[in-house]
Formats: sequence, C-alpha cells, structure tokens
Amino acid sequence: MAAQETVDQKYVYDFSEGNKDLKDLLGGKGANLAEMTNLGLPVPPGFTITTEACQAYLATGREPDGLAGQIEAHLESLERAMGKRLGDPQDPLLVSVRSGAKFSMPGMMETVLNVGLNDQSVVGLSAQAGGNDRFAWDSYRRLIQMFGKTVCEVPGEEFEQALDKAKSARGTTNDLDLDADDLRGLVEAYKKIFLKHTGREFPQQPREQLDLAIRAVFESWNAERAVLYRRQERIPADLGTAVNVVTMVFGNLGPDSGTGVAFTRDPASGAQGIYGDYLANAQGEDVVAGIRNTVPLQELEQLDKASYDELLGIMARLEEHYRDLCDIEFTIERGKLWMLQTRVGKRTAAAAFVIAGQLVDEGLIDLDEALHRVNGAQLAQLMFPRFQLDHEFHPVATGIGASPGAASGTVVFTSARAVELAAEGKSVILVRRETNPDDLNGMIAAKGILTSRGGKTSHAAVVARGMGKTCVSGADEIDVNVPAKRFTVAGQTVNEGDVVSIDGTTGKVYLGEVPVMPSEVVQYFEGSLDPEHIDNALVRAVHRIMTHADGKRRLAVRTNADTGADAARARRFGAEGIGLCRTEHMFLGDRRELVERLILARAEGEREAALAALLPLQRADFEEIFREMDGLPVTVRLIDPPLHEFLPPLEQLAVNVAVAQERGEDVAKEEALLAAVRRMHEENPMLGLRGVRLGLVIPGLFAMQVRAIAEAAVTCARGGGVAKPEIMVPLVGAVQELETVRAEAEKIIAEVVGDSGVEVLIGTMIEVPRAALTAGQIAEAAEFFSFGTNDLTQMGWGFSRDDVEGAFFWRYLELGIFGISPFESIDRDGVGRLVRIAAEEGRAARPGLKLGVCGEHGGDPDSVHFFHEVGLDYVSCSPFRVPVARLEAGRAVVETGGSDSR
Ligand code: PEP
Ligand code: MG
Repeated sequence: MAAQETVDQKYVYDFSEGNKDLKDLLGGKGANLAEMTNLGLPVPPGFTITTEACQAYLATGREPDGLAGQIEAHLESLERAMGKRLGDPQDPLLVSVRSGAKFSMPGMMETVLNVGLNDQSVVGLSAQAGGNDRFAWDSYRRLIQMFGKTVCEVPGEEFEQALDKAKSARGTTNDLDLDADDLRGLVEAYKKIFLKHTGREFPQQPREQLDLAIRAVFESWNAERAVLYRRQERIPADLGTAVNVVTMVFGNLGPDSGTGVAFTRDPASGAQGIYGDYLANAQGEDVVAGIRNTVPLQELEQLDKASYDELLGIMARLEEHYRDLCDIEFTIERGKLWMLQTRVGKRTAAAAFVIAGQLVDEGLIDLDEALHRVNGAQLAQLMFPRFQLDHEFHPVATGIGASPGAASGTVVFTSARAVELAAEGKSVILVRRETNPDDLNGMIAAKGILTSRGGKTSHAAVVARGMGKTCVSGADEIDVNVPAKRFTVAGQTVNEGDVVSIDGTTGKVYLGEVPVMPSEVVQYFEGSLDPEHIDNALVRAVHRIMTHADGKRRLAVRTNADTGADAARARRFGAEGIGLCRTEHMFLGDRRELVERLILARAEGEREAALAALLPLQRADFEEIFREMDGLPVTVRLIDPPLHEFLPPLEQLAVNVAVAQERGEDVAKEEALLAAVRRMHEENPMLGLRGVRLGLVIPGLFAMQVRAIAEAAVTCARGGGVAKPEIMVPLVGAVQELETVRAEAEKIIAEVVGDSGVEVLIGTMIEVPRAALTAGQIAEAAEFFSFGTNDLTQMGWGFSRDDVEGAFFWRYLELGIFGISPFESIDRDGVGRLVRIAAEEGRAARPGLKLGVCGEHGGDPDSVHFFHEVGLDYVSCSPFRVPVARLEAGRAVVETGGSDSR
C-alpha cells in the first residue's frame, strides 16, 4: 500500500464520543454537551468540530484536509439518527452552528440558528409544525438575519430597520404580533438586503450554509471584540474555538414551548435555591440578550409541571456530578425538555467562598478542594469597601444586584464616552438599556455598569461578573434615553456628567456620591466580627477556608510596614512579622531640616550633630514598631533612596534663590543648598548613590540607624517585650560591601545589647542581579536574604520601574511579549531564575539561611505560588494583601499535592 500523504487527524466528534475533560479539544460547550449526552440527559443530537480544526484553519486560511469528509460522515449519521435530511423540502433537519471555546467568552463569538432552511424547506417545516406558517417564516427570517450579519457581514441595523418597518405597518412594537404573511414579506425584504450587500442571492444549498457558518465561527475567534475580551481576561490567543453543530429544537412553537437559563445556586450570593429565568414561546437567544422580559423560573411549575420537575431533577444530578454550581440553558419544545448547555457556572467572589463551604458541608468536596476553588483575587475583591448608607440616602431605583461592589461615578451613555472620560482619570458609570458585546470597551473603562433591562444572566451581568466589576442590571424604573444623553427616574432627570452611585450587591441606585465603608470581610480580619457568632454565611466561609489555608501553608506571611499603625493593622490581618520596614519616611516632614544639615555639613562636627539629633527620633520610631510587633521578627532596612530626594527640586530652588537675590535678601543658606543639589545631581539616580553605597560614602549614617535599632530593641526587652530586629542592607552587589557594613554594625550592636538578651540578625536584600549571581559569597556575610524583586525586575530587565508601565507596556502586552507586567507578577523565567539561583547557592553556602521576598510580588497570587515552589521561608507584602498571601500560600501547598517542594 502506498504511504498515506496526510495524517488522519480526527477533527469531528459525535456528542457521544466526548466528555467534560476534553475542553481543550472540544471547547467548554462541546465537552459538556458530550458529558450530558453520556449521562443520558436529553441533549439534542449533534457533533463538535475541534479547536484543532479551527487552529489549522486560522493558520492556513483554509479548512484542513479531511475536515469536509468528516463533517459529511457525521452529518449523515445525524440525519440517520433523526430520520430527517438537512434541507429536505418535506421534513427538513435544521441545525444550529455554535461557537464554544475552552474558556467561556459570553457573546463574543458567533452563532447561526436554523441552518438548513431555504425557499422549499420552509414549507416543509411549516407542515411538520402542524401548519404553523408563522413559525416557519419567522425561523427563516431569523436564519437570513443571523447568517447575513455573522457570515457575510451585512450590517445588522438594516435587518432591524426592516423588522421595525414591518411592525409599524402592523401598528405594533411586538414581534409576536407579526403574522405569517408579514414574516413572508420580511423574508423577501431580508433577501434583498442580503443581495444588496453581498452581490449574491441568499444561499439555498443547506450544505453551503453549513460550511459557511462553520467558517464564520472559526473566524469569529479573531473578531476585534473577542481579541479584546481575551486580552482583558488573559485568555491565550492561540486556543481557537470549537464549533458545535446541534439539531435545532424550538422554544417558539407556542405557549407549550419556551426557553430558559438557570443556576443551581445563586451565582451572586451562593445561597441555595433555584435561580433562573424563563421565557415562554421564545428562542434561547432572546433570553441571553435580555431583549424580552423573562419570568422567574419557579413560574414554570404552573406552566408545565412535568418539565419543571424533570428540570429540577437534572439540575440536582448535574450538581452532584460536577460537584459544583452549574449553569444551564434549556428549551422546552411542545412539552419536551431539552438541555442545550451546562457548565460549571461563573460566580461572584462571595459566592465562590460560600459555595465552597456549602459543598464541604454537603460532603461533595473536602477542605483542600474548597481551598483550591477560591483564590486571592476573589478574596481581594471581597475586601473592597461598601457604601455607607444613612438616612440621607434613598435609592431612586432598585435593579438586580448583578455583580457586587460599590461604585460611584459620572454618568455616561456610550462606550466611547466611558473610554474618553476614564482616560482623563474620571470614575464613570456606564448606563445603558442593555449592553451588548460592542459595549465591551466601555465596560472595561467604567467603574460600574447600570442597565434598565435584563436579569442576572443578561450580557451586562455575565460580563461584569467575569471582570469583577460592579453592575446593577434590570433597574426598570430607569428610563434611558441614549440619544438625549439622559435618564429619568422617579420624576428626576439625570444627565451625562451627573454623579450616581450603584450597589452591585443590593441592586440599589442612588443619585450623587455615597460614602463608603469597609467590607465585612475586612471587619472580620480586623477582629470586629466573630465568625462563630454572626449570621453571615460569607464571613463564616472565609473564616473556615482561611483557617484551613493557614494550617496548610509552609510560607510565613509578613508585611511591609513602616509605621506602628500599619504594623498593628497588618498584625490583625495575620502578618507574622515585618519583612520590610523602609526607614526613609522617617527622614521626612520636619526631619528634613536635619537631613539638609547632614548633607550640607562642612565644618568638623556638623554631621555628627545632625546624626545625633536624628538618633532619638529614629529610636522612638523603632520602639513603636517593636512594641506593635512584640514577639515577631521585624526586618528594618537601612536607608535606601538617594539623599538628594530629601532636598527641594533643583528648579524650585533655583527660582527661589533668584527671586530672593533680586529682592536683596540674605540667601547664603539657599545658595549652599542649591550648590549641594547641583553637586549631587545624578542622571540615573536609581543606579546612583543609594542603598549600601550611601552607607559606605556618608560616615556615621548607617551607624546611627544601627544604634537606633539596637537601642530600641533593648528598651523593648527591658520593658518586658520581645523585639526581634533583623537589620537589612539594601542594594548590595558584592559581599565586600556587606562585610564592611557588617563589621561596623556588629561592633555597635555588641556595645548596645550587652547582656540584654536581644539578638540582632544582619542580612541583605538581593535586588541587584550581581548579588543573585554571587549569592554563595554573599551568604557568608548574611544571616538572611530578602529578595527585592522590584529592583531585581528593574535591573534584570533594564526597565525603569517609575516610567515604563505607563509609557509602553501596553505595546508589549499587545505583542504578547509578556501577558502581565513583570512588576506585577514575577517573571518566572528571567527574574525568577535569578531568585532560584540565589536561593539555591545561598542555602548551599549557609544551610538554614533565612529567605524571604519583600518586593511587590510578595502579595501577588501567582508569584506567591512561585516563591513557595522555590522554597522561600516567607513572603512580605502590604498589610491589605496579607490575607491574600495567606490564602495563596495555602493554595500553593494544596496544588502541589501537599508536598514541601524544597
Ligand atoms: C525592592 O526593590 O523590591 C524593594 C522591596 O525595595 P524598594 O521597593 O524600596 O526599592
Ligand atoms: Mg529596592
């Protein structure tokens, strides 16, 4: 036999061939349709074209070899199973063609319904629907509209206008009032629009319709809005979408038909119960688009008890099977229930914690799994403030709390205006009747979203929840007039530019700016809410999962704090010490004058006098911090920034001197200061006289700080406290620098601590690449390392940390050079490698060397996992991120199988 020229790759899977774990290949929708099919649930038969076929199409611009034949074969077997043929004039099989990527991208990609209808089969469809002409012609006009818009880029408004015209000719605003003749006329009008824009007749060949629709779904992966959504949600650009070809079932066949969406628990609060919307005599798309008003799912019980009971049974089964909150889409066709979709449902941060706790109680998952199912980003969201409401504020409208949080801002009515004002730094609330995928830019730019139509499953609600953005939907007391740029509510008019406040938890809308108060979760962390004694499901769930995370984690969590108040707050948040106390703020305010004296010192003794004046002030600062952190380690970093940062800016000083000279005033002091500023000017101050270099160049500066630290610790110890100071030297690049500072510091410490029992460690930051690469040597002179990943990133990449993020990172993100700023999340491959090398070589030279990180990455969820993997002892982050780091440190253990990876 001749060698085969093409690999026989399988591109098409029948629903019975897949399962829920094949999301990479079949997309989320396809994998779950397969799973439901295999569970024996009523899923309309169909097949899925793989993401690999899409990837091949997008790479080459044509369908891969073998795809057409495989589609043919699956279509034939579908036709056999259904006993109908695609396009059969008497009894046509109709299919929907639906996108379905690995990660849900609501409304971002295309769907075409009713494929298989043409001028002949529309008649057959009517006959099969019991002579329901109206239904058949409505289905046909929907096909031409969707196909035209999606596959052939015919402007959607033209179809809308033709529809409006038909309705006004009938004297109605409701689609349902159009009869079969109206719809037949509309089909003719639609065909003309199609011809005008495409230069060809609407395709009558069903197979051609199918192939073009499949191709359009492939291409919709790269539609602008889909690209934007992926970037926002950090979904990789190369996954591609699968395409599902599904037998049509109809929810618009009369009052015994309908369609709905539901959640197995409340996706906003996590509360148990039945949450869903139902729309009788409608297609699924009508519900998701929020176009017509739905009724609560519970009302289906009166309309069709058998289907309702069956649906509830299926929902319970799905929850048990997926061991999680599921969302579903279903259609009832003349009393027969069909499942069109399920997936593990998106949920708010609060619901994620509450549901994880409930599932543990129900015995469906264990606490490790519960911990795995929540994350630090969600916890951070729960720590957002909420509105502080007293009697002054009355809501003017109440909609649906679609995505929690509290947002105040200037009202805008269009996506473009939202983007414009946000770019000026304004908080904006985007107000729409309902949103659609074209509003995505504005939704990203806005602080909050308010709509007058649509439920929890409307576009606005789903997208806002995914983004963690505050949203109130369906506030139907609000009458939105987009062209006039205003809305009216309760007899008042709100114009563009006015301020409103929306509460995405309660759904309430307020005029003006409402003050905010901290979240309950923060109150719990602060210790003012006792989880054992309050009736608050969220606080109890957070407490339970945090307790488990704390029990699991190996990484300690410290905080970056340089005041007693910050230290105290961080301690309440669970900080187990201070990992970075920056001392530079201690030189600001009215102490600037002493720093000026220090810098300007010329005569013998002037510098010593300035330092002597600073010493008691510093000592008092440290005493306060040691007191707050009693018993816990406190890493104090010696002064780091260039000293000229403490002097007035050059231009300002030069102007002051010139003006004073003009007036004939005595400017000797200002002139001296100006000369010093000129002398100390540096082109690249971040690479200049700062950190350890200052200590080596300015006699007595570090010595004063070391003395202040040691004396404060001794005072603490004598007062019965336990101070555990760790002195940290910044910006070390060579062991010799550290040795020099250490030699001087050790002498002072020995002299000060005497027999007080105080122990002072001396270590260094690792924040210069050279330090990371010579960590073995540096460890000889250091009792601990703390990675300064801010500077390590700056110097590792050669990116100025003060400039680049605003300047050009957008382009790097667009090009995919990195998916997230390396200042935000550790660059594992480059900067992370420096950390790994330094950790390994440092520990090899000095077993037991204490390792931590105090750059901003210490509170970033993904980076925390990396630091766990590398085997650091602790992460240190700002007080507010301490709970996030605790949670993620616990998750890191659970996700690496509970192993200590050191
Ligand atoms: C760092 O460089 O990571 C660090 C913690 O120090 P700073 O941010 O103060 O330079
Ligand atoms: Mg630094």
